[in-house]
Amino acid sequence: MKIMSIMQQEPTLSTRSISDAGVGRILDRVDVAVWIYDIDNSRIAFANSAALDLWKADSAEQLYARDLASDMTPTVAKRLKQYQNDFSQSDATFTELWTIYPNGKPKSVMVVYRGYRLEDGRMAMQCEAIGDVKDQPDNLRSAEALLHTDVMITMFSVEGPPLYLNPAARNAFLAPIENFSNLFDDPSDYQKVIARVEGVGQHRLVTKLRTVQGNRWFDLSLKSCSDAMTGQPAILFTAIDVSELKEARDTARHLANRDQLTNLHNRSYLQGYLEKLEESGAAQGSTIIFFDVDRFKLINDRYGHEAGDTVLKQIAVRARAALRTQDMVSRLGGDEFVVVIEGQCSRSSLESQIERLQSAITAPILHGETRIDTTISIGVAGYTDETTRFTDVLREADIALYASKQGGRNCTTFFNTQMGAAALERDQTEVALKKAVQAQEFVLHYQPRLDIRSGKIIGAEGLVRWHHPERGLVMPDAFISICEETGLIDELGQLVLEMGCAQAIAWRRAGLDLDLSLNVSSRQFSDPGFLTLLKELASQPGFPHGHIELEITETVLIGDHTSIAEKLRAITSMGYRIAIDDFGTGYSNLSYISRFPLNCLKIDRSFVDQLPESGPIVQLILTLGQQIGARVVSEGVETQEQLDWLIDHNCEEAQGFLIARPLALDGFEAFLQENTPTAGA
Ligand code: C2E
Ligand code: MG
Ligand code: MG
Repeated sequence: MKIMSIMQQEPTLSTRSISDAGVGRILDRVDVAVWIYDIDNSRIAFANSAALDLWKADSAEQLYARDLASDMTPTVAKRLKQYQNDFSQSDATFTELWTIYPNGKPKSVMVVYRGYRLEDGRMAMQCEAIGDVKDQPDNLRSAEALLHTDVMITMFSVEGPPLYLNPAARNAFLAPIENFSNLFDDPSDYQKVIARVEGVGQHRLVTKLRTVQGNRWFDLSLKSCSDAMTGQPAILFTAIDVSELKEARDTARHLANRDQLTNLHNRSYLQGYLEKLEESGAAQGSTIIFFDVDRFKLINDRYGHEAGDTVLKQIAVRARAALRTQDMVSRLGGDEFVVVIEGQCSRSSLESQIERLQSAITAPILHGETRIDTTISIGVAGYTDETTRFTDVLREADIALYASKQGGRNCTTFFNTQMGAAALERDQTEVALKKAVQAQEFVLHYQPRLDIRSGKIIGAEGLVRWHHPERGLVMPDAFISICEETGLIDELGQLVLEMGCAQAIAWRRAGLDLDLSLNVSSRQFSDPGFLTLLKELASQPGFPHGHIELEITETVLIGDHTSIAEKLRAITSMGYRIAIDDFGTGYSNLSYISRFPLNCLKIDRSFVDQLPESGPIVQLILTLGQQIGARVVSEGVETQEQLDWLIDHNCEEAQGFLIARPLALDGFEAFLQENTPTAGA
């Protein structure tokens, strides 16, 4: 290596008389060790005599041949690369305590280093050892730790430039840093820090700082101190980059607080939100609006689950847009949403907000080409002097929502105390029902079915009754809907089918030729275990194949027609017959009716009740039955005129109070004996 190359400038007139060799000799006579370190090759490219001594080398050649990478940790290697980069960008000089390893033995020296461009253009490092550091292990180690740590450690004058930056800080922050405040992305955080440090001497926070990699999150710990050199007040701070950690935590928090489908807040967030509202004392006067989509299951069944998702997402967007930003909108799950209107609000302003919400949501929703019309039912309750816990307010809003459902849906109900009493009764019934299902407190009553042409009783419909230990016989209208809502219907339905099949088998054994129809709720029909249960029952000895009819409602036929038809076929192939109950009241897509294996249509009581005015409709159903090969039964026949009309129009079967009310088993058997003395095999 030519000594000449150490001279970074052209030689001036006065030095031109000194040769390269002369410069070398001068450098060899200097006490300070000077060497050039080739960062790329991890080798020393030049050393004066003092440097040879320091590095414990016998000759320059021997020193230049040493590969210094072998004694170097990866962090040191990385730092040297960063310095190389710094030197390329500015004329920087650093003074640091370094530990070098001449022949593998550590030696700590204070080194000044600056950039030095080699002849081939690469950036190397010019090093001068300005002092030996005596062996004070703790000092050495702490200085070493300061140099190598990834934690940024800096000292700033309160309103001025940095007094000290450790290498990690130097690498992270955008140079030049003119002022401590320049580091902060959020000026208000800087103000807060200064106020706290001046006030209590220290502060800790997570904030965004400006770095060479953009704005990143740091965990800052700050302390007031004085500059050891000048005695001026200063701030010492350490900063740990927590961006990845914070992002992961924020994502986790977002996921935990949000509903994935609609991106609204979820149930657990709502709960926390209301708890905080109560703790802060701001809950008083606030209102909870609870709403759900009317017949949402029908939307899913009719248009598919994707369409159902579109409806929920649209509702979320519209609800958000219709309300004020400070109102909290959340989805509890399914089709249930809760809005919190914080603070006092007059009834009229509340009503107009709800009206806005309702009309926004009920505008038609498009799912692809399909237009879906939805309505919502709403229940409203507020924090009052008596109701101060969110669990109670939510419950009251839920009760009011239930009242909206009972009131025909698509409406709003404000909670009142009478509703509370009714709901309490309902809850008690629910608890009692659970026990009743366990204790099998149910019996079947039998309503005779009359074959109009022959005048014979050909069978019965089994109708469930609850033998309540205190209230006596309870009719199904008082408990079937509760069982459907709570899922108890699966167990109750099973009980009914078991009791019905056992009775039908007993009648057969007694030589009675009777058909028995049993009601199946739509929820029970869609239960995955339903087919298995039917199969088990049909495999009992003496099972009367072809004489047990399952009454389903039209809502069961909505949805994927192929799979419904398959299920119905599976049921009929086991030996059951299928009847559509309350026919004409639900949604019937007549074009599909012919695709299902239906044995019977039961005309709803409301049409029979309106005879002869409803004659055209009843006639239509009779014709339809003929077309698809199903018997037609008229339900709720109460008068001779109605029966006469049905006889005139060739209806096959009738059921109603005119013939007989539903009867307990012995009553039914007595009725049979009186009316069909010749019945039996
Ligand atoms: P449904 O299946 O349509 O049963 C006919 C209902 O009409 C019975 O009421 C019966 O007593 C009544 N009824 C029969 N003839 C007349 C009449 O001439 N005039 C009037 N006004 N009513 C008449 P019930 O027993 O109270 O049952 C009500 C509903 O409860 C049933 O309607 C059925 O939907 C449901 N249900 C009954 N038992 C069961 C069951 O075991 N499982 C299921 N899922 N539902 C059941
Ligand atoms: Mg029925
Ligand atoms: Mg019916």
